[in-house]
Amino acid sequence: MITTKTKSAPAWTRRSPATRPGAEPMAIRGHWLLCAVCARGGCRTPPPGRVAIDRLLKFMWAYPFAPLRVLGDVDVARAHYLHAYEGRSSRDLPEGFAARSADHAWRRKDLEVCRVLGIVPGTEITAYHAYATLFARQPTLEGICRTGSRPSTDWPECPHARRGCYEKIAGEPRANLHRQYELGEKLAGRGLWAMVRPRSRRDMHGAKRRSARFILEEAERLYIRPSHCLCILCNTVDDPGREPLAEDNLVELFRRMTREPEVPVTLSEGCCMVCDACNVYHAGEHLCYHAHIKSSLRDLMVLERLGLPPGATLPARELYRRIYERIGGLKEICGWRDGSSTAHLWAPCNFDRPVLADARRKGLITGRPVRHVGSRA
Ligand code: SF4
Ligand code: SF4
Ligand code: SF4
Repeated sequence: MITTKTKSAPAWTRRSPATRPGAEPMAIRGHWLLCAVCARGGCRTPPPGRVAIDRLLKFMWAYPFAPLRVLGDVDVARAHYLHAYEGRSSRDLPEGFAARSADHAWRRKDLEVCRVLGIVPGTEITAYHAYATLFARQPTLEGICRTGSRPSTDWPECPHARRGCYEKIAGEPRANLHRQYELGEKLAGRGLWAMVRPRSRRDMHGAKRRSARFILEEAERLYIRPSHCLCILCNTVDDPGREPLAEDNLVELFRRMTREPEVPVTLSEGCCMVCDACNVYHAGEHLCYHAHIKSSLRDLMVLERLGLPPGATLPARELYRRIYERIGGLKEICGWRDGSSTAHLWAPCNFDRPVLADARRKGLITGRPVRHVGSRA
């Protein structure tokens, strides 16, 4: 990988102390996530207050991987009913019990958001993953701010619930990576990209030019994350002569390894030479904020299959011989073995195609077919 960090790079693309690994999360109530969407959609008076919501929006806009701690008060319901309603022992009541109990309408919304996200209250989640999950599962306010219950003073409906501000943002169809690359900053304000900032076209297109040239003409060694070794096959097996993709360098790496099968490849964990031009790659943090978590696991799964540690270097031909010999099909890695999807951010990829069987038979990169023997000795 070459660095895309330059002195002229905008501040938000550089690493910041506020977003370093292990940075303190911003603590927010669950329903604030919804109200921030309404605010982006035109609501000027969100119930948590403009100051709180603007602070949250600014925090997320600075960095899509910004950590949030999503709160929902379930401890108030641990007060024993005799203490709560017969006043037997006020000492045993949770602190601030009366106010917390009276906050029931907002507590319900906080817990609804935790339910939609599939988290326990107090969980830390990145802004990107919170909204990617929320918009996939909750494109409208139906059931949360519009419940269909009879209006009552104890359970009032928010005056903004039927204005469509939330739906205007959350209902926007999701653009794929190629479209994200094409649109760049024009995405800002649309769907997920109203909540987290897209990269600019200038930034991505410059990174593409520099990184593709480096891979094809200059690099003496290639750096590829182990899971991307499989993605390279996925994107070339049906058409090995295809044109490069604008948004990543999968095809360039395939071309270089095919042309020069003895080129050394270092299996680097995390983002690699594939990623420079991608909209969800943050050069300053050197991180893919879309797939960092699940791809980190896939990297380790591939390394384990190959019997190699992170940072191992071997010729491309030998690397792919091991892959063909030891990994039977994509489902073992990309489908988590059983095809399960335990959470939105752990969703399996499209593992059903016979990519490895075809690549093994064609001898892509190895130059001759290789037999699958499994990963056990
Ligand atoms: S309708 Fe719901 S999400 Fe929108 S401002 Fe009101 S409480 Fe917040
Ligand atoms: S199925 Fe696996 S190898 Fe193919 S693109 Fe998805 S993650 Fe990459
Ligand atoms: S790992 Fe992430 S940043 Fe890299 S190419 Fe894939 S989606 Fe883009």
